[in-house]
Amino acid sequence: MKIICIGRNYAAHAAELGNELAAEPVIFMKPDSAVFRQRDAFYIPDWTSDVHYELEVVVRINRLGKNIEAKFAPKYFAEFTVGIDFTARDVQSALKAKGLPWEKAKAFDQSAVLGDFLSVDDFDLNNLHFQLKKNGQVVQDGDTSLMLHNISQLIEHSSQYFTLKIGDLLFTGTPEGVGPVAPGDLLEGFIEGKKVLNVKVR
Ligand code: ZN
Repeated sequence: MKIICIGRNYAAHAAELGNELAAEPVIFMKPDSAVFRQRDAFYIPDWTSDVHYELEVVVRINRLGKNIEAKFAPKYFAEFTVGIDFTARDVQSALKAKGLPWEKAKAFDQSAVLGDFLSVDDFDLNNLHFQLKKNGQVVQDGDTSLMLHNISQLIEHSSQYFTLKIGDLLFTGTPEGVGPVAPGDLLEGFIEGKKVLNVKVR
């Protein structure tokens, strides 16, 4: 299983990090060892002092596919959720400044948190409202209608390079409002007002 992640897919988030908008999706990967498996809490690694939350819509691939056309992409997933792409921003900034790959900052153990999966049949994924609360306050308020590349376009693009396999996850990029976490924080993710994700930070 692999995790395909999209960067800079919301204009306002790209702007808040000072990034230019790319004409085609920015793609990076996390290995399966990045999936959050702690039942209780996310522990901030000792090699970073600036871990950020990034709440993102995540779809789970349920068919094998390569070179998938956007119009057929909805046939390749039946469930989705929101997840957190935990990012060691200090490490990422240092790597970016040197033009080096981001993996240490993005693909570390426990960095891919998943909420409870829901059926796509009950939602419009092109007009989906999702939110992250930190300690009860809304810090990210996103809507998939603001994506620069929609989910079908992301599947079309990424499947040109990577064969999609059953169980693969696609993190579709984060809206604006990313920020740091500290021990004691509580992160809660919502889809159309329904709570699907709960993580304590230690
Ligand atoms: Zn992200």
